[in-house]
Amino acid sequence: MRGLMQEWPLLVHTFIDHANIHHGEREIVTRRVEGDIHRTNYSEIYSRAKRFSKALQKLGVMQGEVIGTLAWNTYRHLESWYGITGMGAIYHTLNPRLFTEQLEYIINHAENQYIISDTTFVKLLEGIEKNIPNVKGFIFLTDKENMPDTKLKNSLSFEELIDAEDEDFDWVRVDENDACGLCYTSGTTGNPKGVLYSHRSNVLHTLAANSADAMGISSTDSVLPVVPMFHANAWGISFSAPMVGCKVVMPGMNMDGESIYQLLTDEKVTFTAAVPTVWLMLLQYLEENDLKLPYLNRVAIGGSAVPKMMLEKFEKDYEVSVMHAWGMTEMSPLGTIGAFKSGMEDLSFEEQINIKLKQGRATYMVEMKITNDEGNELPWNGKDFGHLLVRGPFIASKYIKGEGGQILDNQGFFDTGDVATIDELGFMQITDRSKDVIKSGGEWISSIELENAAVGHEEISEAAVIGISHPKWDERPLLICVPVEGKTPSKEDVLEYLKEKVAKWWMPDDVVFVEEIPHTATGKIQKITLREQFSDYSLPTT
Ligand code: AMP
Repeated sequence: MRGLMQEWPLLVHTFIDHANIHHGEREIVTRRVEGDIHRTNYSEIYSRAKRFSKALQKLGVMQGEVIGTLAWNTYRHLESWYGITGMGAIYHTLNPRLFTEQLEYIINHAENQYIISDTTFVKLLEGIEKNIPNVKGFIFLTDKENMPDTKLKNSLSFEELIDAEDEDFDWVRVDENDACGLCYTSGTTGNPKGVLYSHRSNVLHTLAANSADAMGISSTDSVLPVVPMFHANAWGISFSAPMVGCKVVMPGMNMDGESIYQLLTDEKVTFTAAVPTVWLMLLQYLEENDLKLPYLNRVAIGGSAVPKMMLEKFEKDYEVSVMHAWGMTEMSPLGTIGAFKSGMEDLSFEEQINIKLKQGRATYMVEMKITNDEGNELPWNGKDFGHLLVRGPFIASKYIKGEGGQILDNQGFFDTGDVATIDELGFMQITDRSKDVIKSGGEWISSIELENAAVGHEEISEAAVIGISHPKWDERPLLICVPVEGKTPSKEDVLEYLKEKVAKWWMPDDVVFVEEIPHTATGKIQKITLREQFSDYSLPTT
């Protein structure tokens, strides 16, 4: 027998509808790329999103088509998302930190019809326009007066498009399983792969990620998502904020310590979220200027492991509770978060810190298992570590266009590529990663691509790249090279050669020359041995 409840598809416009009705006056504050602080509210965002949906339809955008967004966290970026999804199209977040070949690849691969962009990226777009011929035009998130002087074809002003429409528009009622958003992951090898979120998966993720033991934001909070919308939906805050009607503070392009401190204080922010690199910059600024954080209650930190020093400082010196979170683009992104279980409030500070150093326990609708190389499940005892696999309704089942083939095991679990322990209480801790990517400031640097570029140098016969810990960026690449016999290339020479080949922020922080690189039995570079060998190595940039 079937239940007798109403058919009500789980569509993302319901978030902004709810905010409009119940929290219409609640503020959305943005540090705009134009430099000023701008204030709007949920009702305005709702109205402008509807007008933008109409404008997109007039431009000929069809349901199911993909629109790129190359933008910082701002109210306009948010409006564009609700406008795109509200008329049945798909937002595709473009990470401006990708290097241009990757950007071109994902724009073409995802078949972007238009690109919505901040004015800060005009030069970037001009540089790649000839290689993205199927893009029909560019919509700049600004008004007519601030439109860039550019020869990009069909350059339009977002404000002008909105001004030309009224809000008399019914959201297009798509199926809840229809695609809603797209975000590419940059893997270690091969091209980036697209994770295609549905309306349903975004709604379910929002409900789970914002439950009380997870992010748990509420209408009384003032929320600063420093984590960019192009990093897996700003960890869902683009949806959970209107769901609860909290105040939102959008940082725009400035994420340095001073800019973030100003927003935290001026806008009385109670909850914020970002990768460790951002918080290192903030903590340094606070210390240098002898400042406190009187309003902030909770900070969610993820993307890479939270350093102990950071945890202790936030908790002890600033009385801010740290919520250590783990997830990935394929998981929408939240998988685990470190909320205490009953009784843990009574533990000593040191014991609590040790719990918070773990990546946390699974949110509702995320199932986890750890397995050995044979695929056998390992016990949850906090000691045995193995491949971490996950399944659930907001976890990817395939990549777009079938790239990467079958990605689930026969029980429907997805291999995260991380290696972890899980303790008796269900707290997971990452011990290693099976991939060898270098995480720099929340972004990934592929060691393999750097190695491939380096061996293009005629005096290098073999190269290996490993991440060396860095106080600001978390990790930075160290390039280890074996010179061609009889040659003595210099560090400067190698770096000069790489300059042309890789993005600036991918450049190795140092180059060392060795006689030999260790190999496994199957001829692969033995990164574990290299890491041990260079465990005490300190980069010249630290
Ligand atoms: P991305 O898909 O770019 O968000 O990267 C996901 C990967 O980042 C995960 O598979 C982990 O390797 C890593 N990661 C995310 N959060 C954490 C964390 N809290 N601690 C350690 N690694 C993390």
